[in-house]
Amino acid sequence: MKNKPNQPPTTAEVAAYFQGNEATNYQARMIHECGQNVKTYPFERVVTNPHLLACHHRFCPDCQRMRGQNWASALRSAINSEFTHTSKSDPRLFPNWMAITLAGVPCAPLDLRKQLETLLEQLSIAGAQGFWRNNVRTTLRLLQLDVNQTKNGRPRVTPVFTFFMGVSRNLINLQTQGQLIQRIKRDWVQPADPDNWADVQSCVIPTATIRDRNSLQSKISRIIETCCPSADNQTFLYIVEQLRGVKTVAVYGTQRNLFLPSRISQADDLRYEREYSVARIAEDLSESHSGRRGFEFLSW
Ligand SMILES: [Zn+2]
Repeated sequence: MKNKPNQPPTTAEVAAYFQGNEATNYQARMIHECGQNVKTYPFERVVTNPHLLACHHRFCPDCQRMRGQNWASALRSAINSEFTHTSKSDPRLFPNWMAITLAGVPCAPLDLRKQLETLLEQLSIAGAQGFWRNNVRTTLRLLQLDVNQTKNGRPRVTPVFTFFMGVSRNLINLQTQGQLIQRIKRDWVQPADPDNWADVQSCVIPTATIRDRNSLQSKISRIIETCCPSADNQTFLYIVEQLRGVKTVAVYGTQRNLFLPSRISQADDLRYEREYSVARIAEDLSESHSGRRGFEFLSW
């Protein structure tokens, strides 16, 4: 498999991960046929409903590019509307946005799930604290996975969370004074082996100009699109298994409705997979969204 860390994998590359293995081969077909009206899974047919053309597989590059663009434009709309409602005469009252990056510890692919559970639990403990609750209005949380090799060639996966946050002026001041990073480090997990400590970073995100917002929008879109790492086949399939049910995009805070989660959430991808592709062909979108389907067929 080609290793292009800065490029999202192509549809053919992702499909290839699932190919050749009886248990996952159908996913390769789904991804290959994304956007086409001729489908072979679960049986050969021609799709006429435009909603069914996309495969909605959570690792399909085309579907994830679309999702990344939707989230990024939703965040941009949220920022635009803040500016519309803020006095333009006083820059101190401008909306304040920050990014925080928290990396986990490199681990074997099969230990990823355990680590993610620990990190997410830690995040929820930190998020419940008054300090963060009072100073953060909205958070868009993105998860990326970095895959590297150890010296002896064994793959190591590092989960990296990036938070884009609408914050109080107080938090911006702490950041400017260099004090915020201590607080973040205190609230994040403490690694048993500090040499393995990957990274904690925080920065203010400029949003005042169109150019700033263009840049933020494309960055977010890109992170979502490239969540899925390049790796060898076995590592990739292990990661897919470990990520089962884990959201790579999440939103918190009092303004979470700004992001229209029902239209763009990752849960849609999971539901789509279950409803349309695993168990039966439900060409009738509204009927299938009625909730009569069970979850027992979730196969990834
Ligand atoms: Zn797709």
